[in-house]
Amino acid sequence: MNTRPPPWGVARRINAAGTLTRLGGSLMAPEVLDAMREAAGYSVDIAQLQTAASERIAAVTGAQAGIVTSGASAALTLATAACLARWDVARMAALPDTSGMPNQVLMARTHRNSYDHAIRVAGARIVDIGHNDRGTGAGIRGLEAWEIDAAVNPQTVAFVFVANPSSIGALPMVIATVHAHGLPVIVDAAAQLPPRENLRRFIDAGADLVLFSGGKAIGGPQSSGILAGRRELIGSALVQMMDMDVHPQTWSASPLIDRTALRGIPHHGIGRGFKVGKEEIAGLLVALDRFAQRDDAAYAARLHQRLVSMAAALSAASPRLQTRLEPETPGTGVPTLALHVDGAADALSRALQHGDPPVHLGEGRLDAGILTLNPQTVREDDDATLVRCLLVACASLPPASPTTAPPP
Ligand SMILES: *Cc1c(COP(=O)(O)O)cnc(C)c1O
Repeated sequence: MNTRPPPWGVARRINAAGTLTRLGGSLMAPEVLDAMREAAGYSVDIAQLQTAASERIAAVTGAQAGIVTSGASAALTLATAACLARWDVARMAALPDTSGMPNQVLMARTHRNSYDHAIRVAGARIVDIGHNDRGTGAGIRGLEAWEIDAAVNPQTVAFVFVANPSSIGALPMVIATVHAHGLPVIVDAAAQLPPRENLRRFIDAGADLVLFSGGKAIGGPQSSGILAGRRELIGSALVQMMDMDVHPQTWSASPLIDRTALRGIPHHGIGRGFKVGKEEIAGLLVALDRFAQRDDAAYAARLHQRLVSMAAALSAASPRLQTRLEPETPGTGVPTLALHVDGAADALSRALQHGDPPVHLGEGRLDAGILTLNPQTVREDDDATLVRCLLVACASLPPASPTTAPPP
């Protein structure tokens, strides 16, 4: 394990906030790095490598085909581009200009999020439907089939469904309703791993395309992702991502690309800027195999054990700090430690980020006075340092004001 600090005066941070892109994502296993290092030393036909990747991705997801992308966000753009252009080379050439072609993508209003931009990048216009009653607490109803039926029109090209443990219940209804109109469903499952069963779950449910981040729980390169699904949509996505500086007389297309359906050879497409290197493809494939074979229960049990030790070491840290072990935090699939910080969660998070070494905890519930310690990207040999940093940061907190209510 490399214990040297990064060069260029950059601090090595302890990331207990999860596989966040802005902190460099997952920590890669030596086997993944070996595969990347080897790939760096040979030349390959990227299309052939992607075709081999397709077989591996199909084997672990149950999909007809799949490609390695430069992240889940890129996969979302490519999935949208595939639904917009299919095999039409003129449409591929026109994107992101969608004038004169169907370009509407349906989404439930409750699924809108900051990755919407990845859908719009392809040239699609998002039409959101349904109410947000559960989100606002105004009521109990979610998106219903009749609302999808009413929104579909000749301009509709796809439905994008953002999967998470609370949205998933509506997926069968959405797939059945959207398929009845002959349209595809794209499932954004970027962060829905573990459990590893989710690799197959969305394809099994009938999704036409599903995407996962390679740099989150899979443990692949940070700039990698997976797009899996129906063969003709994957082929369209692939040809729109490939470098197409090819000679029309000598081009040998991947078998994923249906040349009889193409009336010409596409130019560089909308996805050319999302190119994925041979190193990332090799690394992702090794990481994916390791992830697909991993014993999730044993992995979670080990993380749980580490959190129990850390919680014990923190028990006397400060009267303002209370810890609670959350065995299966919804949305992460791994155990986490919730730190309730009486009136000073923001001060504690700030102190940790400016400590030596800097430490990051999850801030998703900061407004409720809670920081979360997610061990997924914490090296085991950093546990003791993480605890020390927390003790130091807690000691630096100002005393609780007497008017502050005790934590529940
Ligand atoms: C993380 C995430 C993405 C983007 O994944 P990258 O691999 O970082 O591009 C997209 N959608 C959702 C829901 C995510 O959580």
